[in-house]
Amino acid sequence: MSLFSRLVLITLPLVPKFVVGRVASRYVAGERREEAFEIIQRLNASGAMATLDLLGEEVTERSKAAAAVDEYLRLFEEIESRGLDCNVSIKLTLLGLEIDEAFCRDNVGRIAAAAAGQGNFVRLDMEDRTTTDATLRIYHELQPRHGNLGVVFQSYMRRTLGDIDGLPAEGANARLCKGIYIEPRTAAWKGFDTVRRNFVAALDKLMRQGVYVGIATHDEYLVCAARELIDRHRLARDRYEFQMLLGVDEELRGILLAEGHKLRVYVPYGRDWYAYSMRRLRENPEVARHIIRGTLGLG
Ligand SMILES: Cc1cc2nc3c(=O)[nH]c(=O)nc-3n(C[C@H](O)[C@H](O)[C@H](O)COP(=O)(O)OP(=O)(O)OC[C@H]3O[C@@H](n4cnc5c(N)ncnc54)[C@H](O)[C@@H]3O)c2cc1C
Repeated sequence: MSLFSRLVLITLPLVPKFVVGRVASRYVAGERREEAFEIIQRLNASGAMATLDLLGEEVTERSKAAAAVDEYLRLFEEIESRGLDCNVSIKLTLLGLEIDEAFCRDNVGRIAAAAAGQGNFVRLDMEDRTTTDATLRIYHELQPRHGNLGVVFQSYMRRTLGDIDGLPAEGANARLCKGIYIEPRTAAWKGFDTVRRNFVAALDKLMRQGVYVGIATHDEYLVCAARELIDRHRLARDRYEFQMLLGVDEELRGILLAEGHKLRVYVPYGRDWYAYSMRRLRENPEVARHIIRGTLGLG
């Protein structure tokens, strides 16, 4: 990364919110659920599945968590009535994890029960390291009861290979990604190639354990490694899927679909788009150009 790009990353929090909103709009479906449904309809028509994420995190008021639960319950009805190929992803700090773990677990349980009623599935996104233990605990408590929950592992975390050991022998469904939060070296691998290497090791382990795996990456090196592992483990097409973020590398998305792999796009929507957008901009290699164009009103 150039010195200039690094400088932009450091000063990113000072960029006006409306500029962030403009340059990050490619990553977010919109503020309203209808906008997300339109995108999902188009994705489904192109052969891709979707996972719908209501934006928001770190809520400190029970009423906000309760409103998020209501919104998710509404989503399942609409997904069903519109006939969409779409599940949901949830962030536990939106559902009250930082208020009270039992309150959050109840909220996740309500969402899982509503999803099960429609034959749908709920992915527990993984947030920063302060939430990892509680997220895994809630997953392990609720999955045996509902059977339609999935977990996420981050290959930058030193603990990940050990956490995979704790998965149930049957019926587990895990997303594997690199991880996006800023973590200390004591918790997370820091080298770019080290994180890749741990991704491959974790993917191999998940496949060996018979876990249905969501391979969440846009890194061509890892897509290539994943395809080798799929062949080596003789995985049928219905035992894994690739996953990508809305607004990132549509060309690679098309290539994977054309090769006949299942592929799911993560579609976030909602009013609380700022924190998510900042994370996407931080990892965008062209962030400096985007910010300058956005600041100059060139979008
Ligand atoms: C479906 C899905 C779900 C995720 N869920 C979580 C989660 O629960 N917890 C979590 O911590 N992280 C999550 N992530 C984010 C993930 O951890 C990475 O931060 C992100 O995917 C970038 O890593 P990468 O593997 O694509 O590799 P990178 O090396 O970051 O990217 C590879 C290439 O992809 C392109 N690219 C990547 N990101 C962008 C971008 N924002 N804008 C433009 N181009 C880009 C670039 O060409 C880049 O060179 C998720 C990612 C995906 C795809």
